[in-house]
Amino acid sequence: MKYSQTFIPTLREVPGDAVIASHRLMFRSGMIRKLSNGLFAYLPLGLRSFRKVENIIREEMDAIGSLEVKPTVLIPGELWKESGRWDSMGEALLRVKNRLGADFVVSPTAEEAFTSLVRNELSSYRQLPLLLYQINTKYRDEIRPRYGVMRSREFVMKDAYSFHADDLSLDEHYQAQGRAYRRIFRRCGLTVIPVKADSGAMGGSGSEEFMVESEIGDNTLLLCKSCDYAANVEKAECKLDYSPRFSEELARGAANHTPPLEKIDTPELKTIEELCGFLKTEAENFIKTLIYRAVHVELDLSGAPGYREPAKHRPATGIPEIQEEAFFAVAIRGDLDVNEAKLAAVLKASEVSLAADTDVIRITGAPVGFAGPVGLNTVPVLLDETVTGMNDAVTGALEKDKHYRHAAYGRDFTGWLTADVRTVKAGDRCPICGGELYEKKGNELGHIFKLGYKYTKSMGVSYLDENGKTGFPTMGCYGIGLDRTLASIIEEHHDEKGIIWPVPVAPYHVSIIPIKYQGAVKDACDTLVTELERAGLEVLLDDRDERAGVKFNDADLMGIPWRIVAGDKNLAADTPRVEVKRRSEKEPRLMTLRGAMAEITEAVQRELAAGRE
Ligand code: ATP
Ligand code: MG
Repeated sequence: MKYSQTFIPTLREVPGDAVIASHRLMFRSGMIRKLSNGLFAYLPLGLRSFRKVENIIREEMDAIGSLEVKPTVLIPGELWKESGRWDSMGEALLRVKNRLGADFVVSPTAEEAFTSLVRNELSSYRQLPLLLYQINTKYRDEIRPRYGVMRSREFVMKDAYSFHADDLSLDEHYQAQGRAYRRIFRRCGLTVIPVKADSGAMGGSGSEEFMVESEIGDNTLLLCKSCDYAANVEKAECKLDYSPRFSEELARGAANHTPPLEKIDTPELKTIEELCGFLKTEAENFIKTLIYRAVHVELDLSGAPGYREPAKHRPATGIPEIQEEAFFAVAIRGDLDVNEAKLAAVLKASEVSLAADTDVIRITGAPVGFAGPVGLNTVPVLLDETVTGMNDAVTGALEKDKHYRHAAYGRDFTGWLTADVRTVKAGDRCPICGGELYEKKGNELGHIFKLGYKYTKSMGVSYLDENGKTGFPTMGCYGIGLDRTLASIIEEHHDEKGIIWPVPVAPYHVSIIPIKYQGAVKDACDTLVTELERAGLEVLLDDRDERAGVKFNDADLMGIPWRIVAGDKNLAADTPRVEVKRRSEKEPRLMTLRGAMAEITEAVQRELAAGRE
C-alpha cells in the first residue's frame, strides 16, 4: 500500500482531553477521530489493527467450538422487560421507539437476545450444549466516557453465551473460554492478570475478570506476594486476623474474665477517632455497626430476628420470591470497612447502600453514630467474622451520647448471620497461603461468568431431558471489549515517539521509506514491496514527497514493527544496501535487499505463528 493512496492523517498536536498514552497515540497516528463525546470513528490505519484483534478473537472462539451468529444491535424492549433489566439497568440503557411507538434497546450486552434466540429453538437435551458468540456493536450511555476508546459509549464486544444441561458441562466450557482468553491476550502481546471476580447477586457461581495493570484502572486488585492468588477487591478474601490482644486472650479463655457490660456517657463523640481519643484505645477494639438498605434480597429471611416482611412481587417464572427492600445492621471490627459487593453477594441482593439517616433513627432509636449489636432487635444483625473474635469491645448503645464497653460476643450479643464482608487491604494475609497481599489498579478487558439459571428461568427457556422431563439450561456468558483491548495493547507497547505494535496486531508489518521516491531508490523500493507482499507481509510504502525526518517520525508514531530506509548513497555502493531497523531498536543496520527481506519475512512469520500452537 502506498501512503499517498491511503488516508492516515497524522498529527503533531495532542487533543486536550487525551490524558493517557493510547488515546493520544491513536489520535496522533490517525487511527481514530472523535465524532462526539464517547463516539469514535476508526480510520483505515486504526481499523487494520482493530480487525487483527477481531480475527484473533474469532479464531480462538472458533477453536473452542463456539459458533458465530449475528443478531441485531436493536433489541425488542419486550425482552428486556421480561428479564427485568428494562428497569434495573438504569440510564446506561439507551431506549428508543420506532415509528409505531414500539420500545427497543440499543444492545449494551445481549443475554436477552441470545436467550430469546435459544428459547425459540431449543426443545431437546440433545441440542445441548449450545455455544454461541457474536462480535458486534454495543452501546452504553456511560455517564462519563473517557480515555478515548477505553471507555466510550459505542464499542465492539465479543460476547459469547453458552447453554448447558448440567453444571459439569457449563464448567467445561467456562474453563475453555478462560484458556481461550489467555491465548487471545497473549497473541495480542498483553500481560493480563486473571482475577477472581464478584459473580453478582443472581445465581452466578463463578466469575473471572481479565485485567491489565493500569494507573487509570478503576478496579482494585489484591495479589499475593507468595502464591498466585489474585482477586478483585469486590471479591477478595483474607485470612482471619483477630486483633492480637483478643486472640491471645481468647486463647487463654479470657471471655470469662471480661468485666460486665457497662454503659458509658460519650457526649458529642460520634466518630471512632473521637471515641478512641476519649477512651484511650484503638479502632480495632470497637465494633462499628452500619445500617444498610438492600434491594431485591433473595436470601431466605424468614425467621431472621427483627425481620419484617416488605412488599413483594412475584417474577415471571421459576426464580424465588424477591423481597423488594429490606434493612440490615452490619457489625464489623472498627478498623475495617464493609465491602458492599461482598455484602450484596451474601444477601443475594441486587443492590445494597447505607440507609438514610431517617431509617437509621427509626431502626436504632438513636441518631446516626450510636448503633451497636447489643440489644438491637429491629432488623437482622449480620456480623462480620472479625466480630466473633471480640470479647471486650466498645460499641454504640442505641441511645444518644451512650456507648457500651466490655461488650463480648456470645455473652452480650450474637447475630443472625456471620459472614465475611470486610474490604481486604494491602498488608492483609492471603486466604490461600497466608502470604502478604498487595494492591494494584486494574482495567478490565474481559470477563467470564457462570450465570446459572437467572435468564433461562426468568425468560422460560426449557427443554425435555432424556427422561422426557422439563429442564432449564444453565448458562454462561463471556465478554471481551475489542476497543479497550486495542487501546491496552498501545498502553503496554509504546515509547515517547509512538506506538510499538506487536506483530500480530500491527496495522502493517513493514514500513518502507525511500529518501526520495525516484530512480534507483524507487526501483529498489518497488522490488521490496512486491517481494515482501508475495511472502504474505503487509507493507506500507511512504511514497510521499516529504522530508525523510517527517517520514521517520510518522513511522515511529504509527509503530510499524519493521522499517526499511532506501537512499541513493547506500544503494549506489558496490553491494547495494538498505537500512533496516525494528521499531523497538535504537540503531539501524545496513543489509542487502535479499538479506533484509529474508530476515524480516522469517521474523514476521515466526511472530505471527507464536501463540497459535
Ligand atoms: P466496566 O466495569 O469497565 O464498565 P463492565 O463490567 O461494565 O466494565 P462487561 O459488562 O463485563 O463490562 O463488558 C465486557 C467488556 O466490555 C469489558 O470487559 C470491557 O472490555 C468492555 N467494555 C465495557 N464497557 C465499555 C465501554 N464503555 N467502553 C469500551 N469497552 C467497554
Ligand atoms: Mg460498565
